[in-house]
Amino acid sequence: MEEVTSTNFIETEINNDIAAGVYADARVHTRFPPEPNGYLHIGHAKSICLNFGLGEKYRGLTNLRFDDTNPTKEEEEYVRSIEEDVRWLGFEWEGEERYASDYFEQMYDYACRLIREGSAYVDDLTTEEIREYRGDFNTPGKESPYRNRSVEENLRLFAEMREGKYAEGEKVLRAKIDMAAPNIVMRDPVMYRILHASHHRTGDAWCIYPMYDFAHPVSDAIERITHSICTLEFEAHRPLYEWFLRSWPDAELPRQIEFARLNVTTMITSKRKLRRLVEEGVVTGWDDPRMPTISGIRRRGYTPAALRDFCERIGVAKNDSVVDLSLLEFCIREDLKKTAPRLMAVLEPLKIVLTNYPEDKREMMTLENNPEDPDAGTREVPFGRELYIERADFMEEPVKKFFRLAPGREVRLRNAYIIRCDEVVKNEAGEITELRCSYDPETRSGLPGSQRKVKGVLHWVPVAEAVPLEARLYEPLFSQEDEDDGRDFLEKVQPNSLTVLQAVAEPALREYPVGSRFQFQRQGYFVLDRDSTPEQPVVNRIVGLRDTWAKLQKK
Ligand code: ATP
Ligand code: MG
Repeated sequence: MEEVTSTNFIETEINNDIAAGVYADARVHTRFPPEPNGYLHIGHAKSICLNFGLGEKYRGLTNLRFDDTNPTKEEEEYVRSIEEDVRWLGFEWEGEERYASDYFEQMYDYACRLIREGSAYVDDLTTEEIREYRGDFNTPGKESPYRNRSVEENLRLFAEMREGKYAEGEKVLRAKIDMAAPNIVMRDPVMYRILHASHHRTGDAWCIYPMYDFAHPVSDAIERITHSICTLEFEAHRPLYEWFLRSWPDAELPRQIEFARLNVTTMITSKRKLRRLVEEGVVTGWDDPRMPTISGIRRRGYTPAALRDFCERIGVAKNDSVVDLSLLEFCIREDLKKTAPRLMAVLEPLKIVLTNYPEDKREMMTLENNPEDPDAGTREVPFGRELYIERADFMEEPVKKFFRLAPGREVRLRNAYIIRCDEVVKNEAGEITELRCSYDPETRSGLPGSQRKVKGVLHWVPVAEAVPLEARLYEPLFSQEDEDDGRDFLEKVQPNSLTVLQAVAEPALREYPVGSRFQFQRQGYFVLDRDSTPEQPVVNRIVGLRDTWAKLQKK
């Protein structure tokens, strides 16, 4: 195969293997190995893009393998969601999806082989005793009194473990390595434990289950994976990964390469914590648009292209770091600014009446669908005497640098007329309920009078044709500044993560199906949520536009 220019250290290592002829035909075979115990999150998206991306770049293969060695926490629902997420990101795995549990018989046979070679033994110590005997960084471990059982006895006991003769915790199978090894991982790690639990695929066929550290290299070897890419916390396990394959009957063994986990500011990347957010009702489900799960990010309105672009831009690191959320937001804006049609919607409506505009008159105003895309065409928006503008676009006593509407001031209504505010109408509580304005008929966009310049340009929605909608605005669930201060993370959920507004939009909104994305002018990018009904569309704000006023206000 032609040479691939490496852009990161993993590709450099793969190139070295190819140059050295480690794998026949320069083959490259990766895998993505999720445990089906929750929905995937943004960190998994990185791992997916990396593994499948290498498969594509080297014209190799990538497997999807469910690491389902823990029967008590795994469910079919998670398997389906993981498949959906991988496909949504735009990747297709080699052949059928695979399961570590498909290899239980082969793993058992291989464990027996290690026993026969004197490399594994059945231990009767309890979990606590095993922990005590293991020692720590300063103290070497102590050998178990059962360590030197004969091969025959070990084979018999291991077979009996499989047959269900023993209770949970009564016996385990351990690798016989070195209780004094400086790397604690190598101090006779457990290979199999007894669990009298039903498995989501193998049912009650097994009551012994392999540990991850044993199951993973063996699964990789069975699938003839070449490069087993995992996150940094497994670096210390690499000698064990290699040790477990010492007697594997294949000259081409997989090798493990570690990279840094992806962390994103304000985003939790732990399935355990994400599950608590769901189970304790902090969010509406795994796909709540505030969740950093792939399904949450999808429902929020992100595109696969934006997520892939993000993973590409952050690259592959050898040291842990935290990526700023604003990079992810940049990627979705980059994608949508070229593709999303623009619409006018008013999130917090304030009614204005153009007192000098005839009551029964309608005009159609022409607006561009996307100024950045000449092929996107135009649409007509009806204009009349009563209109909605954004409440925040009016200030009764305007502060410095506020260039929008105020008593006696003029602004332009986008692609329509210049208007002036003549009167503020309030209710008994003193709240503004309506503005009485007048329009300048000479200034319609396109007419010579439209040359007249005013500072503010506002978006608007005609009252008569307004589509009422629910707009959901999101802020991160967690603040960026949060330190690990011992408090439970659930206590730190931000109170303002969801704001629901009764908004209005121009009639064109009705033409779009659920899942459509658009830019609401001056408000940001939105997606039509699946909670929409014909009477009441629901939109999620994907991301805001960069708002110069908001920045000034912060100052
Ligand atoms: P969690 O801690 O959220 O449960 P996990 O590592 O236990 O995550 P797995 O299902 O075992 O979840 O992960 C599947 C793959 O995704 C593994 O190869 C793992 O290394 C990788 N992965 C998990 N989290 C991240 C992350 N934050 N960044 C990059 N890769 C990740
Ligand atoms: Mg894991």
